[in-house]
Amino acid sequence: MISVREAKKIVSELNITTKKVEIPLTEAMGFVLSEDILSPINMPPFDQSAMDGYALKYGQGLSYNIVGEVQAGSSMHPKLKHGEAVRIFTGSAVPSDADAIIMQEKTKQKGSKLLIDEKPFKKQNIRPCGEQIKTGEIALKKGTLINPAAIGFLAGLGIEYVSVYEKPNISIIATGNELVRAGNKLKRGQIYESNCIMLESVIKSNGFEIQASFHIKDNYTQTIDTIKQLIKTNKFIIISGGISVGDYDFVGKALAELDVHQLFYKVRQKPGKPIFMGRKGDCTIFALPGNPAASLSCFYEYVLTALKLAAGEKDFSLKKLFLPLVDTYNKKGDRAHFLKAKIIKKGVQILSKQSSAMLFSFAEANALVYIPEDKYFTQKGELVEVHLLP
Ligand code: AMP
Ligand code: MG
Repeated sequence: MISVREAKKIVSELNITTKKVEIPLTEAMGFVLSEDILSPINMPPFDQSAMDGYALKYGQGLSYNIVGEVQAGSSMHPKLKHGEAVRIFTGSAVPSDADAIIMQEKTKQKGSKLLIDEKPFKKQNIRPCGEQIKTGEIALKKGTLINPAAIGFLAGLGIEYVSVYEKPNISIIATGNELVRAGNKLKRGQIYESNCIMLESVIKSNGFEIQASFHIKDNYTQTIDTIKQLIKTNKFIIISGGISVGDYDFVGKALAELDVHQLFYKVRQKPGKPIFMGRKGDCTIFALPGNPAASLSCFYEYVLTALKLAAGEKDFSLKKLFLPLVDTYNKKGDRAHFLKAKIIKKGVQILSKQSSAMLFSFAEANALVYIPEDKYFTQKGELVEVHLLP
């Protein structure tokens, strides 16, 4: 059995970035760049007006002759003599002779005469060509996670395709004879299967896709066969249940039979002690305890990190902050705890019904409070480590 810290270190050292692929920018949200992107153009591509007003070439006094107009988008490129001005708008291409732009609000107009109170300083209100970025400069670095702003920025540079790390393919296996699908009437001893749909949802909501999802019986041969098939075509297999020490827990035995290399098994934590992580070839396998809250905690604390690293992100973990505890908490036992919690105005509140079998409070939690192994009594008002749920 290893500590939370040791287990997290093993996950973070997983060196399994996926292939590089080129995809349309329109589909790139949430992917990580696998190469630097160089700007194909100057941005802005021309000296650009930052105001609605007048572009002028300095004259003697404060009166100018208006000799034309350049709308935004127009390719007009009038020549200006000293003492001349053209009407101009935000985003218009500025005539190359212009010294500055004066904003409309600071001018008066009499026929074709423009009157100003003071001379604008040189280049005022002109966004110079290439001010944001010049042709050939790095727009975004390899390793950048593409967010909406990055998409807008790249689209503004005329980029249509980007090189990114592929998202890993992921399959899920839920084990358990007692599990039935919703829609069936429960017989004595049965419960509804909930981990598959829960894990699918958390995986999808974090920007990944599920290749396939299976529900199998507690059966040694079926467990081996299913895992064996999936290892060939998946970067990740996430298994729920059957990893404990019961007579019908076949996942551990099946993984050993299939020569899956164990990276760790069992972590000194609550919930989720019997978590397993292993590798076979290109495939990483997580076996999570079947208790639903344990499964989900383990997903957030370990599996999600592994998925994100595989997809090219660096150092991913849940966002961490320290908040005062709303009520005193006494930890029982010497394992680290991940407690379902809610951030409120006064701090962080540990919710009731913490059992690993219960999702009741998890459903309203927005964070997990991490209490380390060696910490037992946590006073009201004391700062505790809070992991934000994405
Ligand atoms: P196991 O890890 O297989 O020993 O299961 C631990 C507990 O979680 C048992 O009470 C199971 O019935 C329950 N459980 C296991 N898998 C699921 C599942 N997919 N959905 C709901 N509960 C489950
Ligand atoms: Mg089971």
